[in-house]
Amino acid sequence: MAKYDYDMFVIGAGSAGVRAARFAANIGARVAVAEDSDMGGTCVNVGCIPKKLFVYASHYVHDFEDAAGYGWSVGEPTFDWNTLRDNKDKEIERLNGIYVRLLENAGVEIFRARATVADPHTVEVDGRRVTAQYILVATGGWPVVPEIAGKEHAITSNEVFHLERLPKRAIVVGGGYIAVEFTGILHGLGVEVTELYRGPVFLRGFDDDVRHFLADEMRKAGIDLRFNCNVARIERSGDVLLAELEDGSELETDLILYATGRAPNTAGLGLEEAGVELDRKGAVVVDDYFKSSVDSIYAIGDVIARVQLTPVALAEGMAVVKTLFEGEPTGADYHGIPTAVFSQPPIGTVGLTEAQARDKYGEVDVYISTFTALKHTLTGSEEKTLMKLIVDRASDRVVGCHMVGPDAGEITQGLGIALKAGATKAVFDATIGIHPTAAEEFVTMREPVPDDPERRAAE
Ligand code: FAD
Ligand code: NDP
Repeated sequence: MAKYDYDMFVIGAGSAGVRAARFAANIGARVAVAEDSDMGGTCVNVGCIPKKLFVYASHYVHDFEDAAGYGWSVGEPTFDWNTLRDNKDKEIERLNGIYVRLLENAGVEIFRARATVADPHTVEVDGRRVTAQYILVATGGWPVVPEIAGKEHAITSNEVFHLERLPKRAIVVGGGYIAVEFTGILHGLGVEVTELYRGPVFLRGFDDDVRHFLADEMRKAGIDLRFNCNVARIERSGDVLLAELEDGSELETDLILYATGRAPNTAGLGLEEAGVELDRKGAVVVDDYFKSSVDSIYAIGDVIARVQLTPVALAEGMAVVKTLFEGEPTGADYHGIPTAVFSQPPIGTVGLTEAQARDKYGEVDVYISTFTALKHTLTGSEEKTLMKLIVDRASDRVVGCHMVGPDAGEITQGLGIALKAGATKAVFDATIGIHPTAAEEFVTMREPVPDDPERRAAE
């Protein structure tokens, strides 16, 4: 008779937990997973998927405008929020069902309930205590709103997907992925948006040219972007919200969306009581193989707060399965993770920023191209595209690729492969472009920009 009820008990059926549960069960492990909310977690329900659907929805406004230059007249477009929200909900429900089936078909037992850790091999779930050789914590994260007066009047990304109605005006607070993406979404859907970011330029950590370029494009599109600016307190007066800013000025609005980061979901899970070390922010501390300070408890995904991206959560899930059930201790490779910000226009990025590359390699060559996409030669749109390559001069290896412009995410995925394979600038140059595309610019940039500290200082 087996010593434990399960080989692995997974807490949380998000990107990370579902991947690990499915693949472990597929190779014969006895696996259970607990989920106390919607199947699929953040990405499926209140993250990547509904967000991208909203990005598509909001982009139509640009498409309608652009169509005129090509001879189309589409009349006065109107937008119905309820249709978008309800169609999105139907699609998410379909995906929830797919996740259940994927798990069931793999033989995973599903508990639709909150689970907590009782001891290193025991989980409490649904009023029962069950045992497992390994417990995998994949509980994700939750939006954080700073402690300001009136914070209860603000919403987060969790709520923005389910609004009863679209506001006329909105303030978005933050300068990370979610703030920038939702500023674009709301603006495209016709909301008058003000985005407030506390630092000098948003998207800290991205290449400086990219940050400035996107800010210029968003302002050109009519978005009120305010840097070095933050909310001090919020008051409600009937349906109207009043945001008092730190400089003493006031902004009246109908909705305030806080996108100021996410914290790991570890409160009340029983982890510390079981001996699991958490860091200052509540993330589970794990080693290279995702083992916590307790030998039988592992953790992956947003709850370890390394890189909060779905494909990374999936990679971590696969690694844990290999380590625990295939006798092959496996970590995750965090180098050269390509990523996209679905801003409007979007960002695609892989590898180092110019500043990081200069720090690491000293001498680098930088290639920059800004241009008007062919499509816009007839639309009258002033939208521009930016492409940037950073090359380590000594080895000729391309160490950073950055783009702001249509399809940046799609284009960057392929560049990610090139960088992973260690492509040099000579390989980029030897690659034939696909004409006419914007992407071909990445293989036709020939002259580095002058190595001018003033250009860098201006950024
Ligand atoms: P989650 O998906 O959050 O799953 C954790 C699950 O655990 C949840 O379902 C939760 O209900 C459950 N849970 C928690 N505690 C318990 C408990 N005690 N018992 C039972 N169940 C529990 N990433 C991208 O790569 N691309 C994007 O475009 C993108 N867009 C995003 C947009 C938004 C608005 C947000 C918020 C995130 C976005 N992300 C994106 C990030 C991505 O969603 C996360 O990195 C990913 O979902 C993390 O997966 P996870 O499994 O670690 O956590
Ligand atoms: P981020 O960590 O990306 O950004 C948080 C932003 O909030 C930063 O600009 C930060 O400023 C600011 N901030 C933090 N605290 C405060 C405060 N007290 N007052 C004012 N501003 C504050 O978090 P997000 O919430 O945007 O997204 C969470 C994660 O989800 C992302 O990091 C990303 O990994 C993932 N995600 C991925 C997406 C994608 O792949 N396209 C899309 C959406 C989310 P500062 O920079 O100064 O610290």
